[in-house]
Amino acid sequence: MSREILIGLVHALGTMTLVAFVYGATQRSSFNSPVKSIMTGFILGLGALFAMMAPSTIAEGVITDGRTVFMGVAAAFGGVLAAIVAVVMAGIYRLFLGGLGAYAGVAGLVLAAFIGLSWRFATRIENRGKLPNLLILGAVIPLSFIVIWLLPADIAYRFATTVLPAMVPYSIISTLIFGTLLHRERKLVSAERTLREAADNDFLTGLLNRRAFTNRIKETSTASIADGSISTLVVLDLDHFKKINDEFGHGAGDKALVQFGKLLTQICRDSDTVARIGGEEFAVFMSKTNAQQAKIALQRILDATRQQSINIAGKSVTFTTSVGAVEFSPADVSFEDALLAADKALYRAKEQGRNRFVFDTITKKAA
Ligand code: GH3
Ligand code: MG
Ligand code: MG
Repeated sequence: MSREILIGLVHALGTMTLVAFVYGATQRSSFNSPVKSIMTGFILGLGALFAMMAPSTIAEGVITDGRTVFMGVAAAFGGVLAAIVAVVMAGIYRLFLGGLGAYAGVAGLVLAAFIGLSWRFATRIENRGKLPNLLILGAVIPLSFIVIWLLPADIAYRFATTVLPAMVPYSIISTLIFGTLLHRERKLVSAERTLREAADNDFLTGLLNRRAFTNRIKETSTASIADGSISTLVVLDLDHFKKINDEFGHGAGDKALVQFGKLLTQICRDSDTVARIGGEEFAVFMSKTNAQQAKIALQRILDATRQQSINIAGKSVTFTTSVGAVEFSPADVSFEDALLAADKALYRAKEQGRNRFVFDTITKKAA
């Protein structure tokens, strides 16, 4: 029997590595968390099916295998939806296999999932990869074997004396390996996300940086290129910003930049892309927005900027912004040309006395 359990463990290890790999891919996907949970349940449910295909037979119709570990881990690492999906998949297969132990087997699956869920709710997310917590999970999953007492007493007794002593270390070892693999995947995915955010977002304001802004617009523009619709590109530069730094310190300047970034985000629509493209220069791409619509937003931005103030050591400091904007069709005009034109418009706004916007339209592809 112990030899069979050892083979089962080796078998399960291979499956676990595969499951961890697919789990990582699921976590990296752009699906929302309920879908991710369902997918995790599905992968672990499949893992349980594989385990059930290499069972040890205790008695006629009574089998044992590593499936309870997969149920416990599905619940512990995937949550309620994952637990339901995994239990349904493995449960249907166990009923299909039939035999004397079928109902007890299904009850064991449900119980293992409940044990996994209880562990999940008792263990904080950052602690789920810690050795002692995984040891506990591995040690409590075999409690699901209590269902053997649903079987005839002699079979239950044989199970308790032969299988159980091997199942407990099996569960602990495989949960340790499995939990470590899954937790490591999750940590890698979150580290990747942090890195991507740091690469795309400006540290001070949290807005997109110039590079990410350019990339985002190229993505956003594909629809406008296809239907030939009009978009507006806006560049904003704070007026006499050097004076704020000089008079009130760099910290005051930073505060003004953060506040201005928030103001832009609040006034612009969700479909607009807001970015900080330079020191005190910002940009907004308004997809499928013509000059007439954009001008309303620009006037609001000018007014709101003028009316707000930052508080520096009890003093209230105000500032204004100049804006250059250009209306263009992304199908006819490249983003780079639109940006050049918007910059020229901004320059004119500065020349004309600041605290205003200048709007331009480019209709033809620049030569
Ligand atoms: P104008 O109205 O012509 O735009 O005048 P300005 O003073 O804003 O123009 P200029 O480009 O000469 O100065 C921009 C200033 O912005 C200079 C720089 O010190 C400041 N600045 C750039 N980035 C930051 C930043 O991250 N924090 C702070 N506090 N200041 C910054
Ligand atoms: Mg500037
Ligand atoms: Mg400036």
